[in-house]
Amino acid sequence: MKLSEVVKKIKERLPIELVADQDNVGLISGDLDDDCGKMTVAYELNGDVLEEAANSGSNLIVTYHTPLYRPTRSFTTSNSSPDYLFRATRRSINVFTVHTALDVVRDGMNFDLASRLGLKNIRYLSPLTDTLRKIVVFVPQDHIDKVRSAMSKNGAGVIGNYSECAFASEGEGSFLPGEGSVPYVGTPGKPERTSEQRLEMVVDKVSLGRVVQAMLKAHPYEEVAYDVYPILNTSSNFGFGAIGELEEEVPAEKFLERVKNVLGQPFLKISRLSDAKIKRVAVCAGSGVPFYKDAVREGADIFITGDVKHHDFRESRTRPTVLADATHHGTERFAAEVLQRIMKEMFKDRFVINLSKHDYDSAVIV
Ligand SMILES: [Zn+2]
Repeated sequence: MKLSEVVKKIKERLPIELVADQDNVGLISGDLDDDCGKMTVAYELNGDVLEEAANSGSNLIVTYHTPLYRPTRSFTTSNSSPDYLFRATRRSINVFTVHTALDVVRDGMNFDLASRLGLKNIRYLSPLTDTLRKIVVFVPQDHIDKVRSAMSKNGAGVIGNYSECAFASEGEGSFLPGEGSVPYVGTPGKPERTSEQRLEMVVDKVSLGRVVQAMLKAHPYEEVAYDVYPILNTSSNFGFGAIGELEEEVPAEKFLERVKNVLGQPFLKISRLSDAKIKRVAVCAGSGVPFYKDAVREGADIFITGDVKHHDFRESRTRPTVLADATHHGTERFAAEVLQRIMKEMFKDRFVINLSKHDYDSAVIV
């Protein structure tokens, strides 16, 4: 499979373009004409991952963290993160990064983390805003099913766990076909009135281009009347963090033991030891402190993330939600597994997918 096709498929599956303005994701280095048949998925790019990929015959590494996260003036063979890109390029290995595109999807990092901690009824902690559009198109009666189905197949009408959501109302369309037109209904130069359905569906902006193309292809009119509106609803399809409930409430100490076991952490840092029971839990893998306020608003008993600073702890001490730091890497330790699962689902047997064995925390505990 050409790398260009691999990139296209990943972008259809993960919302790379949705997060690309804030995050350096997508194809970081590579030749779109390369043939790829084997990929290595890894938490991040380092010398061991590169060796492993080369030895296994992978010419594509898909990482969670980007190797290029700040402006870089040079690429050499030293051991800083961007230099591994230079090494990869010299060995004809392409590098693709997913990062926040894997955080904001329902089957991504945060729902996975929540589920491993035993949460049920998992939902987004902080749904994205400004991602939804409403598309309205006027369709003749005999093509309504065809147009609705083409739009659905390309991603329109998804609301949470429901797909193919649409509304159609009947009305009358009127138009005057001009000279040289080839109208589906009516005759050039003669005013026409015809029965039409107003079909409306929501669509995430990442799928909008595909949905419009599919709609135009399925629609019989020479000139299609349609509108695209921005809407203010929060997304039910993309968001940061996750929140859910334990099957039954447990003492805080017992739950914290579970967190340590699941995340492989010898200790946690928390804002205060609560003697209350834990039932509602919010999580955000990586550096999730900005979402602590959402956990408080949603009434979480505890919020688990990484990279919590001294002053974050200090300010949260009097808040009802316990703030817990399970380290950046601890909360992201399943990134490569999540990535592998999604890549396997996408590419099935068209790709050999190798899970890197070199996923490690940059810090060591002494
Ligand atoms: Zn991270």
